[in-house]
Amino acid sequence: MIFRLHMGTSPEKVQELRERLESEGIRTRLSPESARPIFAAVDKPPTGLVEELRADEAVEGIVVPRGAWQLAARAFREKPQVVQIGKARIGGGDISIMAGPCSVDEHLEEAAAGVKAAGAQILRGGAYKPRTSPYSFQGFGVEGLRQLKDAGEANDLPVVSEIMDAAQLPAFVDHDIDCLQIGARNMQNFSLLKAVGSSGIPVLLKRGLAGTVDEWLYSAEYLLAFGCSQLMLCERGIRTYEPATRNTLDLTVLPLLREWTHLPIVVDPAHAVGVARYIRPLAKASIAAGADGLTVEMHPDPSVARSDADQALLPGELSALVADARIMAAVTGRRFVNM
Ligand code: PEP
Ligand code: MN
Repeated sequence: MIFRLHMGTSPEKVQELRERLESEGIRTRLSPESARPIFAAVDKPPTGLVEELRADEAVEGIVVPRGAWQLAARAFREKPQVVQIGKARIGGGDISIMAGPCSVDEHLEEAAAGVKAAGAQILRGGAYKPRTSPYSFQGFGVEGLRQLKDAGEANDLPVVSEIMDAAQLPAFVDHDIDCLQIGARNMQNFSLLKAVGSSGIPVLLKRGLAGTVDEWLYSAEYLLAFGCSQLMLCERGIRTYEPATRNTLDLTVLPLLREWTHLPIVVDPAHAVGVARYIRPLAKASIAAGADGLTVEMHPDPSVARSDADQALLPGELSALVADARIMAAVTGRRFVNM
């Protein structure tokens, strides 16, 4: 339950209202919003207490989100959240693109230069890979993180990489990885969500293969509740009855999420469709439907990519996709971030 107070309400008054709830055992969380005091009661207050607070002159309105996810709810912020990663910005009308190989490999330096040349703002690359088969390439691990960060610095690009286990967190901190990706398979790995949330590092939270919007937002709530202040959701396709494509890109969630949450929404058309030549139209459609950013895979020579070769764009194809994104940003009245 979210309490939205009148603009200009004093901090003492906000504290008094929160203490009234806390005195009844109801935990509250203050929104980081600067424009207006907003707080959430994360436990359900008794009806009598809600009515008492509703009658208080400082309370402008009380919003009950659909689920018990409160910190992720749209009403918990005055404006949609903007996530800043290095010089890249995602959300609130700003659009940025993450691109790079599925797995960090021997071609990373060339790939990173291609990402920069294409005009994308964030370099992605997996050092720890969640592979269906234990015999498939598992990633370079810590060495991959080092190479990714070096390639990012060489091209003045912040970097994002997937973390699979809380035990890997010190390595991500040591290598100053700018954004942690929680992959689809780990969307409901709650101990990982708690550890990553506590780290304070920006997070890209992918939707699970069979994750409902509610479950996804509960996972976002874990991250926010444990301290994450820079969080993005990422739609990457869900598993449906259709085997002709790798997954089914669910763009239907974009306008719905815009209403339900203040969190920026990134779309990953690559893992959704799984075929490089189908990615460009889906990237355009994603921005048209309201995506705040895209993440795609690119490799200078997909024939030797160690994972997800079929969905790897060539550097020139990435440049074309970025050019499309600039146009779509303008058409939808938003800004494509220039680095
Ligand atoms: C990836 O980004 O390479 C990846 C494994 O993504 P997902 O978790 O969406 O499958
Ligand atoms: Mn991949």
